[in-house]
Amino acid sequence: MRSRYAQIIAISGEGRFHPALKFTIFAFYLSAHIALAGFDKYSAFVVADPPGARQAPGTVRVTYLGVNGYQFEASGHALLVDPYFTRAGLTAVALQQRIEPNEARIAFGLQHVRPRADAVLVTHAHFDHLLDVPEIMRRTNARLVAGVTAANLTMSCGVDRTRCLIVQPGSTRLIGPWRIRVLPAAHDRILGWLPFRGTRSQPGTCPAKASDWRLGEPMAFRIEANGKRIYVDSGGTPEVLPPAQIAPVDLAILGVALPDSRKRFRAAVDRLRPKYVLPSHQDDFFASVERGFFFGKLTDFRAVARPFQRHEINSHLILLDYFRPWTIP
Ligand SMILES: [Zn+2]
Repeated sequence: MRSRYAQIIAISGEGRFHPALKFTIFAFYLSAHIALAGFDKYSAFVVADPPGARQAPGTVRVTYLGVNGYQFEASGHALLVDPYFTRAGLTAVALQQRIEPNEARIAFGLQHVRPRADAVLVTHAHFDHLLDVPEIMRRTNARLVAGVTAANLTMSCGVDRTRCLIVQPGSTRLIGPWRIRVLPAAHDRILGWLPFRGTRSQPGTCPAKASDWRLGEPMAFRIEANGKRIYVDSGGTPEVLPPAQIAPVDLAILGVALPDSRKRFRAAVDRLRPKYVLPSHQDDFFASVERGFFFGKLTDFRAVARPFQRHEINSHLILLDYFRPWTIP
């Protein structure tokens, strides 16, 4: 018998439906599927500093903000990646209703990070990476480091051009204690379809619905500070792997939301030779963070964990819970 996933691929096959309808089918499939509960039997992988512990000098600390969002801290500075607290509802996204940054949820999320950030790095311009960024930039005084589409959408929502640093793969930026290398990346396909593809070459009106947040230019980052190296992306495809010359890294944060990114997961780990591997973008981002961590409906952490449990990969697999900082050893 075909799995439900195979069935949904079959009914939404490439070219047979309008992309918006395809996304709606996909979204309602998500809502019908039963989520894995919490970290469940994977709690042994969860790492965190002792509650209330101060960050030790000379270290790098990582706080997970949900979806693909992170705060990195070093030497009293903070850097944010893909912070997204609004968590627009499934119905609003699927039915192409208006979505807006949720000020209360942003305020709640920002209670768990430093009041000021040096920069917000954005891997691509989809709503679950960029919707909240203009408001978070205003509240944290951070600059944007992103591709041209993400920068133009951010400017479209009222952020001044001087606050937006447009970068391309291959470039390196020094901001505060951070050395940020921009790397090429690809975006996962959903059932063979690249969601909301497109670019924005100049600012216009602020996006109103999920599909207005166009993919733009996917990128990954290698971030160095205090002698630690972190690689972070939001997923990918087997065709685009991290460059081998950036290895080894201390921590590899690899998006694993969808089958495409899981297909390249092992090869990406082999390239990066990380001490620690943190699978990312695997929570149910339609559910609020107050409910606690739930795996997304299309994630498959069991498959991600298997080669580590069999000692086939010479890296430590870890998980982070929402808002619980962890210092990279
Ligand atoms: Zn995306």
